[in-house]
Amino acid sequence: MRVLVVEDQAALARQLRLALEEARFAVDVAADGEEGLYLGEVEPYDAVVLDLGLPRLDGLSVLRRWRGAGRTMPVIILTARDAWTDKVAGLNAGADDYLAKPFVMAELVARLQALVRRAHGQARPEITLGRLVVDIAGGRVSLDGTAVRLTGLEYRLLVYLAHHPGQVVSKSELTEHLYAQDFDRDSNTLEVVIGRLRRKLGEGLIETLRGQGYRLVAPAD
Ligand code: CA
Repeated sequence: MRVLVVEDQAALARQLRLALEEARFAVDVAADGEEGLYLGEVEPYDAVVLDLGLPRLDGLSVLRRWRGAGRTMPVIILTARDAWTDKVAGLNAGADDYLAKPFVMAELVARLQALVRRAHGQARPEITLGRLVVDIAGGRVSLDGTAVRLTGLEYRLLVYLAHHPGQVVSKSELTEHLYAQDFDRDSNTLEVVIGRLRRKLGEGLIETLRGQGYRLVAPAD
């Protein structure tokens, strides 16, 4: 899962990046409204954290333009404390949730995870696929009740496929949702990551459909 943070305050942007990377998202950061608008138009983010007070183009305008162009990714807006009119305007412009500054980072991460889950029609914070359990809220994976350690990339790949059960996901779609813009992909190509996941979770977990992509298969008993 890949997230865009649009925040002009450098220190806060850094904290957001760290917290979201800790929660195993691939994270891109834009420092002004124009850059944020552009990234949100061209990249397929699974969710966006959008500050309203931004240089060059304000957050509300960014959000309206995304929604006007048919971009449907979940967006959580950051508003000034007590500015209830901002919250209302933001929700009316198409935001899915809001947080007033200052906020607790753990709350933002939890709200964002809930939004991503909901966007995929997933009400429960846990996905069970046969012997495999993915605890999205806790960022944990277990097979037959035993915890399996995954890297951030392995985890994102698994969660993305788990959000599309039984569906074939193309290589390009996976790639777009796994890697942040500045990520060095050379030693972590899709094939390598999938190979590592198969070794950790069983060879039969991810099916390769030649020329089409990958599909997650629930590990049978
Ligand atoms: Ca700001």
